[in-house]
Amino acid sequence: MDKIMALSKRRGFIYQASEIYGGLNGFWDYGPLGAQLKKNLRDAWWQDVVMNPANGALGPDGQPVSIVPLDTCIIQHPKVWEASGHTSTFNDPMVDCRETKARYRFDHVHVYAPKGGAPTDKPFFAFVQGTPSEAKQKKKAEKAFGEVEVVALSEVPKERWERVLAPDAEKVGSLTEPRAFNLMFKTYVGATATEDDVAYLRPETAQGMFVQFKNVVDTTRVKVPFGIAQTGKAFRNEVTPRNFTFRSREFEQMEIEFFCHPDEARGWYEFWRQTRLAWWKSIGLAGENLLMREQTRDELAHYAKDGAGTSDIEYKFPFTAPGFGEIEGIAHRADFDLATHQKHARAKLEYFDAERGELMPNGARKGERYLPHVIEPSAGLDRGVLAILCEAYKEDPSRASPELLLLNPRIAPIKAAVFPLVQKEGMPEIAANLHRELAGRFARHGFIEHDPKQAIGKRYARMDEAGCPYCFTVDGETVTHQTVTVRDRDTGAQERIAIDRVSGFLAEKLGLAG
Ligand code: ATP
Repeated sequence: MDKIMALSKRRGFIYQASEIYGGLNGFWDYGPLGAQLKKNLRDAWWQDVVMNPANGALGPDGQPVSIVPLDTCIIQHPKVWEASGHTSTFNDPMVDCRETKARYRFDHVHVYAPKGGAPTDKPFFAFVQGTPSEAKQKKKAEKAFGEVEVVALSEVPKERWERVLAPDAEKVGSLTEPRAFNLMFKTYVGATATEDDVAYLRPETAQGMFVQFKNVVDTTRVKVPFGIAQTGKAFRNEVTPRNFTFRSREFEQMEIEFFCHPDEARGWYEFWRQTRLAWWKSIGLAGENLLMREQTRDELAHYAKDGAGTSDIEYKFPFTAPGFGEIEGIAHRADFDLATHQKHARAKLEYFDAERGELMPNGARKGERYLPHVIEPSAGLDRGVLAILCEAYKEDPSRASPELLLLNPRIAPIKAAVFPLVQKEGMPEIAANLHRELAGRFARHGFIEHDPKQAIGKRYARMDEAGCPYCFTVDGETVTHQTVTVRDRDTGAQERIAIDRVSGFLAEKLGLAG
């Protein structure tokens, strides 16, 4: 991983944010090549998800898939996060029970211990005041110790946590360290900056799409089933940012909220699982480093327990190997989000489906009113870029560039380079003209480089290291026969093509022909 990080910096893909001030943990900036790589990945997602959903494949209902884009604010009304559960869940130090998956406010957890701190090899029985666990654990503790006293979990020395029996757990030692103060970044809206003006930077882009669901239905011609999609920044005050950009505090998401009838959720869930996995393969992650993992029932969020499930698309990063790390989650969220916003905002978010319900004598349907279910494919753009860099990175000591990036041409930030072999005999002028022609056609997809100096081998090596898939070289034969050489990055092999075919050749290789 260190080598990939070093190359990322050396070639201007990713820099540490605020580096000259010593950096800021969990924040990363994208350099010139990284910014374009990231844009290409975002654009590919936008193209394949929003403009041409699932590349034209039909949905499980046999109809074309309908998706509309949205661009919502980073700062939303604070009540959005109350409704979504983010304010309450992320507000204080929390401890998680690894066994039951329950999460507790750290300051709410107490234990029953032997009175006066008498030595014991028995468990401390943890409970949350005011819940059934209080009486249950007390009974067990009295049986074990006789007289008991209540101690706050925060008072129990860390080395004794191995002996704490969490509420409802069967084995001791399942409580994690307290973490996640407030995962949401707090800010203030307006000049007075009192506690009434508190707002949050969004921890996910999803909620903006739920909150605008009704407006989208009322102002466009979409009909359920349809999706809303957006890309944008999200912020999480991660307790331990780590693994390069994998766990950052500021990152970008690419999310789809796909709304469907509850009876059809299972079919759409399967559809999106397959479609999203195929997409990651299509942009260069095809191989044994990519897999789809269905979450076990224990891992599922509470609202997802009775649904079709949640799957993670995972990549084997060098720092997770032999394990995998999530790059996208696909979840059946049922009607959890629309229902909670309907309740908290007192807004009617039900959808009237004129094509459902009983068939009436006049042949029309009576219609059905319901809260749609949601399938959410939620991908991380930064984790996607990182997976692409890791997959593309290759070492080959036999080459002039011992490190190179085999980036998929569609995603590569540099699409092609044009070189004059030498700086004489009219070659620089022809190369400059060819560069101008290619830039005019392809620059909106990425860089077209023009590098007239240094030995040709060095120039190829520089391009290999930056992941440029094709180099066109103007040489003596160009002057006499109007041909150039084209060099393939992956094989290093060269072929000769007519100079007036270069633009068509590149378009075909980049998937832009026709
Ligand atoms: P994790 O379990 O790794 O924290 P998550 O399950 O909380 O991730 P989601 O809330 O499902 O993540 O977010 C959807 C996507 O957003 C993830 O698949 C990931 O690609 C991206 N993502 C989430 N947190 C971060 C982060 N801290 N840094 C970079 N990307 C992130």
